[in-house]
Amino acid sequence: MLISDKTLPICIAGVWREGGGDRYATIYPATGEAVAYLNAASLDDVEEAIQGAHHAFRTSGWAQRKPHERAAVLYRIAQLIRERAEELAQRQRLDNGKPISETRVLVASAAGTFQYFAAACETLEEIITPPRGDYITMSVYEPMGVVAAITPWNSPIASEAQKMAPALAAGNAVVVKPAEITPLMALELAAICEEAGVPKGIVSVLPGRGSVIGDAITKHPLVKRVSFTGGTATGRHIAHIAADKMMPVSLELGGKSPTMVFEDADLDHAVNGVLYGIFSSSGEACIAGSRLFVASSVYEQFIDRLTERAAALRVGDPSDERTQMGPLITGKHRESIERYVELGVSEGGRIRTGGQRPEGGLYDKGYFYRPTIIEGLSNQARISQEEIFGPVLVAMPFDSEEALIEQANDSVYALAAGIWTRDYKRAWRVGRAVQAGTVWINTYKLFSISTPFGGWRDSGIGREKGRLGILQYMEQKGMYWGM
Ligand code: NAD
Repeated sequence: MLISDKTLPICIAGVWREGGGDRYATIYPATGEAVAYLNAASLDDVEEAIQGAHHAFRTSGWAQRKPHERAAVLYRIAQLIRERAEELAQRQRLDNGKPISETRVLVASAAGTFQYFAAACETLEEIITPPRGDYITMSVYEPMGVVAAITPWNSPIASEAQKMAPALAAGNAVVVKPAEITPLMALELAAICEEAGVPKGIVSVLPGRGSVIGDAITKHPLVKRVSFTGGTATGRHIAHIAADKMMPVSLELGGKSPTMVFEDADLDHAVNGVLYGIFSSSGEACIAGSRLFVASSVYEQFIDRLTERAAALRVGDPSDERTQMGPLITGKHRESIERYVELGVSEGGRIRTGGQRPEGGLYDKGYFYRPTIIEGLSNQARISQEEIFGPVLVAMPFDSEEALIEQANDSVYALAAGIWTRDYKRAWRVGRAVQAGTVWINTYKLFSISTPFGGWRDSGIGREKGRLGILQYMEQKGMYWGM
């Protein structure tokens, strides 16, 4: 299972060497075996990486290159990712345990992200200067300097690409802090950036404990922006530091997204969408559709069909092309999910399917859990309100659209929502009334890099993706020219 006998180097201001922190192993969640050994970054490494990034930003000429020249490097990064797509997808499977069919999609999306921001970078060359009599005004965008990307373990490569591509397109240096347990994809991306022609020092990757390494990066005076994806508690902590430093941040945080199935929906289509929305990625997705509301008149038949399909999902070996759900990320995370299911039952919930670990063979080695559907609880139950981040769906019937919208919006989170109906007027009405950064109608978890993504309330601040995503990583300057 080991990808190398040697301790993996990390990337500190363009120098590949062992980190100065504790040695640890990354683990394949399907078997519990070690995949790679590496040393975490130390606080000295953080200082070296940030000073090196600052130096590279000022001296390497990256920020001064014409946007189309930086774009050419970003196109090359996309191409290199595509050339190595299968190898990267297999490595990510080992890093995080997602089924190979999912990691292939994430790798393709990372390539698409670099390509998209290469194109967006080229548009930076357009300057619009409306003449105003005897003077003209201009909006000028400057790169910020050193920016940080702090990412979670659940979608490596896609999360990192989403931050690195626009930050680099804007001309910045980027210090990436991947989750300690899934550092491999960020390290691969740093190597690819270097091969594509990003100057040394412009990209660093510092794996390590968030409360030590992530915290030190966030507090560093030379770091001018943090783009964070992770849990709401961590996001709040980063927002406090940012307030002290007067530093802009974007925070992509947790979710407890409602999926709403009306009686006139195409129920076959809705069953597929609801299953995919909660059980793909083992439910370890910020946008997982984890609260299901179904119209009372079709509730029983819908839940019967959903339960049958959930019980039949192929849970197992992530390297098998047919696997639909892999393991959870760690044994500890599985225990937290089990505690939530116990809590749901103690609050009066009935388990329709799942609620246990599968047994035998690979199941006894990895951190597997069965797709789980619980009903009989209200939207006020703790498992309806708290983010479980696993394959657990809470199903509830609803009687009226008004009551449904009230319940759907009754959450501290507001990241995403799904609506299943054939009535386009209702889809529009409910889509407007539901509070969420993303609303899917008759689909779920569909993504386009050109559509901005982010959350309301405890689900975060700011938007990633979209053509304007690049401007997040730039400071705007108004310039006035007298004649
Ligand atoms: P987490 O908040 O524990 O960690 C995320 C990252 O922050 C990791 O790299 C971690 O090391 C680092 N970190 C931890 N403490 C820190 C600190 N004090 N200062 C700076 N950095 C610190 O989250 P996680 O468990 O890795 O990921 C799961 C969470 O991420 C879920 O809540 C999920 O909803 C959320 N998420 C959100 C999105 C989104 O786009 N909204 C996407 C994916 C995941």
